[in-house]
Amino acid sequence: MSENAKQQARNVLANLPTLLPDLESVYKDIHSHPELSMQEKRTAAIAADRLRSAGYAVTASVGKTGVVGILRNGEGPTIMLRADMDALPVRETTGLPYASSVTADENGKSVPVMHACGHDMHVAWLIGAATLLAQSRNEWRGTLMPLFQPAEETGAGAQAMIDDGLFRRFPKPSAILGQHVMVGTSGDISTRSGAITSAGDSLQIRMFGRGAHGSMPQASIDPVVMAAATVLRLQTIVSREIAPTDAAVVTVGSLQAGTKENVIPDEAIIKLNVRTFDEDVRKRVLAAIERIVNAEAEASRAPKKPEITLLDRYPLVKNDPEATKRAIGAFRSYFRADRVKDTQPTTASEDFGSFGTEWQVPSAFWFVGGTDPETYAKAKQSGTIADLPTNHNPRFAPVIHPTLGTGVEAMVVASQAWLSPQAD
Ligand SMILES: [Zn+2]
Ligand SMILES: [Zn+2]
Repeated sequence: MSENAKQQARNVLANLPTLLPDLESVYKDIHSHPELSMQEKRTAAIAADRLRSAGYAVTASVGKTGVVGILRNGEGPTIMLRADMDALPVRETTGLPYASSVTADENGKSVPVMHACGHDMHVAWLIGAATLLAQSRNEWRGTLMPLFQPAEETGAGAQAMIDDGLFRRFPKPSAILGQHVMVGTSGDISTRSGAITSAGDSLQIRMFGRGAHGSMPQASIDPVVMAAATVLRLQTIVSREIAPTDAAVVTVGSLQAGTKENVIPDEAIIKLNVRTFDEDVRKRVLAAIERIVNAEAEASRAPKKPEITLLDRYPLVKNDPEATKRAIGAFRSYFRADRVKDTQPTTASEDFGSFGTEWQVPSAFWFVGGTDPETYAKAKQSGTIADLPTNHNPRFAPVIHPTLGTGVEAMVVASQAWLSPQAD
């Protein structure tokens, strides 16, 4: 990033200290009013209001609760900035004064709801960046397109917006940018070129047997043994079929069969989750699962082929090398050099990747640390980083400062790497 472009980013961010108290109250308000996937009405209304008053043309209800803003500001590239809005069915135990005590309906059942993945922070970041850029239109040229998506946690939100005509109804961007709060020193930014979050596939496998009295195994086809053998054999995919230099996870998180010790049940249900970083490896793992499941059923004389159902699917988030280089270059010139770090790909999954992959637009995604710097340093020293509450933990609580300001700065600085007339 040139000196002039950096100065323009600084000019956009000059109003950040003035805006920050307001953003902090937006963040706390959203944190204490979390909404489950596809129920983000209140959050979407806040985002839409903020964009409108900043001067954006706003389209709401894209893919149910998604919000898209457009601000045209002369000739130049279109840049899409993405935030996700949904919370999780988790009971918050942070003890924060702005903690959530909200419950909501999930499939007819009342569940506690918490922003345990930090999407409240993402919404506040994007409101902040969109507001500051709209206030300083002399510092950039092009079209800014902030997008707030529903249902990241179920993997359905990005796709819902795409299915609702996102690509047809809005201008095709030159780049798509997104960021996520994570465990790490608050105020630090980390990213990498290539795969940054894994592809995720969740499957349900229903295996069929024949029920009988527990004392008469000869009359049964026991689905408990069938499923148990399957679970063990599935462990050999990663250890025996995937190269040690390739990474994959196959986790059977649920195995259910039967109700009583002396009744052989009719069927067993396995639920499993797969994480991979490469499309070929992903295909190999999924094919191996299908092969093993069918073969084990056959080995057990199952009366019917197992039923394999896809529960959800997250694409690989692959950072475009050119776009990522451009964003990192901007971060390195704006932030103190030691605040911008390289990261390994994480086995978390994200549907952010759908936008870039399906629209064929280069995208870049990065992490912003949200852990109190002193707490993180101590944990690092004592080798207990793994004990810090991660995303999805009921005690997940990013420190507001400097996390909130850093995310706004990162979004503005990265946008300016494209939108500043002096960018190249
Ligand atoms: Zn999450
Ligand atoms: Zn998340």
